[in-house]
Amino acid sequence: MTTESAKLKTILIPSIDRALRSRRISEISKVYGRSIVTDILREIMEGLRTQILLGEPIVRNITLDAITLELSTRLQTVFSLGPKPVLNLTGTVLHTSLGRASLPSEAIDAMISVANGASNLEYTLATGKRGHRDDHLVDLICRLTGAEAACAVNNNAAAVMLVLNTFACNKEVLISRGELVEIGGSFRMPDIMSVAGTLLREVGTTNRTHLQDFENAFNENTALVMKVHTSNYQVNGFTKSVSEKMLTKFADSFGLPIVVDLGSGALSDLSIHHLPKEPTVREILQSGVGIVTFSGDKLLGGPQAGFIVGRKDLIAKINVNPMKRAMRLDKIRIAGLRAVLQLYLNPEKLKVRLPTLRMLMRPHKEIARMVKEIQKEMTDALVGIASVKILNCHSQIGSGALPVDLLPSAGFSLTPENKRGIRKDLKSRALIDLAASFRSLPTPIIGKLSNGALILDLRCLENPSSLTSQLPELRHRLLNET
Ligand SMILES: *Cc1c(COP(=O)(O)O)cnc(C)c1O
Repeated sequence: MTTESAKLKTILIPSIDRALRSRRISEISKVYGRSIVTDILREIMEGLRTQILLGEPIVRNITLDAITLELSTRLQTVFSLGPKPVLNLTGTVLHTSLGRASLPSEAIDAMISVANGASNLEYTLATGKRGHRDDHLVDLICRLTGAEAACAVNNNAAAVMLVLNTFACNKEVLISRGELVEIGGSFRMPDIMSVAGTLLREVGTTNRTHLQDFENAFNENTALVMKVHTSNYQVNGFTKSVSEKMLTKFADSFGLPIVVDLGSGALSDLSIHHLPKEPTVREILQSGVGIVTFSGDKLLGGPQAGFIVGRKDLIAKINVNPMKRAMRLDKIRIAGLRAVLQLYLNPEKLKVRLPTLRMLMRPHKEIARMVKEIQKEMTDALVGIASVKILNCHSQIGSGALPVDLLPSAGFSLTPENKRGIRKDLKSRALIDLAASFRSLPTPIIGKLSNGALILDLRCLENPSSLTSQLPELRHRLLNET
């Protein structure tokens, strides 16, 4: 007998069969199914065996009770929800990590109705013949933007990639050096260009690009002119860029298509709602550019999608690129998007029904009133743990729209109670723990850490009881931790 198997012999690990026959585990199997329970039991036993062989400290007799407890914990993880609702109190309305736009109930109803069974996604009911899935969106998006034609894909990154690949595969794309942007980590213009099979031709300098720079860069391999809406940062000072209008003139005279990546893609003029001005898709098309791309789940306020709108002949070329097939939308999102676009036909209804717009437009006064209303409950819940101060703050739109804090808002600033003489590292530990407790709630509450405080911006809190109803549980957790 090897020393290893000798070691194993001296510690008793119950067999899987024995475990499965136990009363409690056999009940668990009835709920979750024997197959997953057996798999997890095997993983637990293997883990124990490895621990023993590595000589890690372990109890001598591994009881069935301990194994049952471990099994339950692991099953709970396996069967836990995927993405689940959280309260976005970060102050960023369109927060990419928190799923961007909240959908209107009109969209949710439409999505559920097609999720439930078969639908005429690519089927023309009048003729009984095959149709095209994008047709459910094209009429509305053209009406709302003034475009001749349109198509829809998985997201705006896919839209940009598809346009580049369709018009400039193995060819050059002219783009201003000041517009080679990165949007939230994984979307970097130079990388997208290279995976789309196009050659990047940077034009001008970081702060200044002239029309002359485009003219000088043109050669027989140039296939496309691109302009990117650089709304997620600002270059201030000695700057110059070439307007869509001038760039279109240049592109037309050289017979090149021109695409503008508008990113956020406002369909209606936000400034009429006293929000910061963002160029609308219609305005950009009116300047004469051939194609505009934009997201469905940023300012538009719908489910994740990317739109490509513009000249009929150009959209027709995109539609026959086999890459489009790999980027197409599913029935659920098409149904949701159509319902969102229908809201845009009635601007009065839109500002009430579309959560993104409603949250962006929410007046400071109304948010401040809600803060006052729940101040006492918040303070009581954190007595002896953290001090609660009312804070006037600024929210931001998020997702590449104007990055500067622009929307006057209100919320709470929570600072862990200052125990006398507490060390600085412990103080920041207390703050991290406080934020973690908020995140650990059944509906996690996500705030923002700033200057030694946890900031909760209430702009996106439409139903205050979703926060206050969790405060007793929060207090319980905080007191039991310390
Ligand atoms: C957000 C953004 C993208 C990426 O859009 P997704 O819908 O997230 O894929 C591309 N370009 C610009 C300018 C953007 O703002």
